[in-house]
Amino acid sequence: MNKTITLANGNGGEENNELISQVFYKAFKNEILEKSEDAAIIHNGELAFSTDSFTVSPLFFAGADIGKLAVCGTCNDLAMMGAKPKYLTCSVIIEEGFEVVELERIVASMKIELEVNAAIVVSGDTKVVPKGSVDKIFINTTGIGEVLKKGISSNNITEEDVILVNRDIGAHGATIFAAREGMEMSSALKSDCNSLFPQVKALLDAGINITAMRDATRGGVSAVLNEWAKQSNICIEVEEEKIPVSDEVKGICEMLGFEATALANEGTFVLAVKREDAQRAVEILQNFEFCSSATVIGQVTQTHLKKVVLKSAWGTSRFLETPTGELLPRIC
Ligand code: MG
Repeated sequence: MNKTITLANGNGGEENNELISQVFYKAFKNEILEKSEDAAIIHNGELAFSTDSFTVSPLFFAGADIGKLAVCGTCNDLAMMGAKPKYLTCSVIIEEGFEVVELERIVASMKIELEVNAAIVVSGDTKVVPKGSVDKIFINTTGIGEVLKKGISSNNITEEDVILVNRDIGAHGATIFAAREGMEMSSALKSDCNSLFPQVKALLDAGINITAMRDATRGGVSAVLNEWAKQSNICIEVEEEKIPVSDEVKGICEMLGFEATALANEGTFVLAVKREDAQRAVEILQNFEFCSSATVIGQVTQTHLKKVVLKSAWGTSRFLETPTGELLPRIC
């Protein structure tokens, strides 16, 4: 590792993993942490516990703002473990001079999203720092959820599972990039930022046999699939043309040379579901707003263990690697 922290150390990809394992895991090493799930499963498997900090710039963007993001981010990590989000903390670091009216807008967004999850904020902290010590506002939320279905884990994926996504990918990353660059995009491009618990609940209520779920945040779908291939010691083979990408996101990717699979999402998740339940899961997901493109994108095999293979429509294939470098700091 480098002697100083680089922006790439926060990319949700390779360098981020290196920082986590060589500094934090090394010091904090324990069985729960080493499972590397979206949320820690504690208290005899009954509770899920997760934390996340939000530094997105700009604070307000098409489709959401830092407040909605701060509630969705933590609640989604709980939902990905089959848990119902229940109690959150809200901790803010505010820069001197920040407009109260903007703070109220952010908190109002948080309130709406808490209601979607039927969760409440039960503890918090407020710090104000001198101008220039922080850029406008940073928010941390920590959440506790009640596990509705035990045993969901990204360490247990097998060849009996197929790989799904709940909607088109890359919208959050593309939206933040367009906003940051001052690009005038069509009004159809907006962040996918959304609470995933309602979708998870519908799947659980229908008795869908879910092996694993993970929201494809920093590092995008590429990072999730690579983490899963390593954690479960499997090969994931994905059909490129099956991965849903909107025309707006495709446009940004073509213009700037990005891969949609490496772009961040905030309301898009990858699922590993037992093969016999896959079609039913797709149908349930497609009933949700923005999820009409929910689909199966890949299979689990033993071909190249710990690797993700991307197969093109022309019969060629290549490895899909964990993203490296830093595409876009302060995405979430
Ligand atoms: Mg997550």
